[in-house]
Amino acid sequence: MKYLVIGSGLFGSTFAYEAAKRGHKVTILEKRNHIAGNIYTKKIDGINVHMYGAHIFHTNMKNIWDYVNQFADFNNYINSPIANYNGEIYNLPFNMNTFNKLWGVKTPLEAKNKIEEQKNNLNLPDNPKNLEEQALSLAGSDIYEKLIKGYTEKQWGRSAKKLPSFIIRRLPFRFTYNNNYFNDQYQGIPIGGYTQIIEKMLSSNLIDIKLNTDFFDDKEKYLNTGYDKVIFTGMIDKFFNYQYGELEYRSLKFETEEKNIDNYQGNAVINYTDSNTPYTRVIEHKHFEYGEGDKGKTIITHEYPQDWSRDKEPYYPINNNRNKALYKKYVELSKKENNNVIFGGRLGQYRYYNMDQTIMSALQLVKHEFNF
Ligand code: FAD
Ligand code: UDP
Repeated sequence: MKYLVIGSGLFGSTFAYEAAKRGHKVTILEKRNHIAGNIYTKKIDGINVHMYGAHIFHTNMKNIWDYVNQFADFNNYINSPIANYNGEIYNLPFNMNTFNKLWGVKTPLEAKNKIEEQKNNLNLPDNPKNLEEQALSLAGSDIYEKLIKGYTEKQWGRSAKKLPSFIIRRLPFRFTYNNNYFNDQYQGIPIGGYTQIIEKMLSSNLIDIKLNTDFFDDKEKYLNTGYDKVIFTGMIDKFFNYQYGELEYRSLKFETEEKNIDNYQGNAVINYTDSNTPYTRVIEHKHFEYGEGDKGKTIITHEYPQDWSRDKEPYYPINNNRNKALYKKYVELSKKENNNVIFGGRLGQYRYYNMDQTIMSALQLVKHEFNF
């Protein structure tokens, strides 16, 4: 078989690797000037810089952890971000360290009582219908006001009342002194960066990669060049020329700079949770690899959320009811019109996939495609 894969991110590359392993030919089109999509890392001053935002690999799926470990050795980094709310410092995710700093409580019972007391003043519904109700019913009003509302509304550019509640349930909320941002069993950062994973996946001589090549520059030609199947990991609404309207996305702007100092902020990730600071996070990349890199240098990145428009990168799908319904219409259209085009990945499937879910989804496609 001959496959055309649009996009060299984790989804397209996992599929290409598995197809080539089975003797199939794959051509990859990539509009950027590098492979690896949003997990691309680049070495600057001996530091592996996450060029599209902090990426921490974490999973509960042993098979996916074993799978990704074929392509890199992982360190034992545990993500423990810090929140800065107007100069006040708190531990994340929401845990006993956070509660102690906020209220001086020392035991889980004291913390639970404090949260209950705040909830009793709020008159909350039994079933939270949006992110605000969900956050208030989990954490009470102080945490919501200081650590969630400002960050969330900057990140998504809309009221927390207009966001789905699952977004906040991504974060652990626990009554132990444990600052691990994830509950998953396996976690780490690939030693030497993420790009090597994709380089190894695409190293077969059955895979041909065309960088700086946008599928939409000549869509009809690519679809009619004799490929048996097309795997498309770009935007599904754009593929169909937005004929039912645009899905909504959230975009980001990254400002990366070098500082002539060994240690700028003392942690890999600091979240700015107030509403006035225009950025959401500052990342200091060397801390993902325990300070590896040139002496006296560090690289930091400010992450600014921004509205998406057609000239910007769509980093996050916004999975509210309106967009879910619209996405479904595009899926139905794809079944009717384009049987040999398969849509995959964060943009093709319009899902808020973490890396492990992206790999899992690509491997499901592999299973389906190659019948094993
Ligand atoms: P992408 O990486 O977006 O790859 C798609 C590729 O297709 C891109 O290279 C793009 O240039 C190319 N492309 C698109 N359209 C075209 C076209 N028309 N022609 C040619 N090429 C095209 N996950 C975690 O597990 N942990 C984290 O800590 C984490 N942090 C994240 C932080 C940020 C800021 C973001 C945005 C995501 C984060 N993720 C994280 C999610 C992770 O990035 C994704 O799961 C994964 O990268 C998705 O891979 P993909 O192949 O679907 O998409
Ligand atoms: N969030 C928050 N305060 C924080 C960090 C996260 O309110 O300090 C909320 C916010 O709504 C965010 C969601 O939790 O969108 C999920 O956070 P996560 O860190 O998983 O976001 P991602 O890394 O995917 O951007």
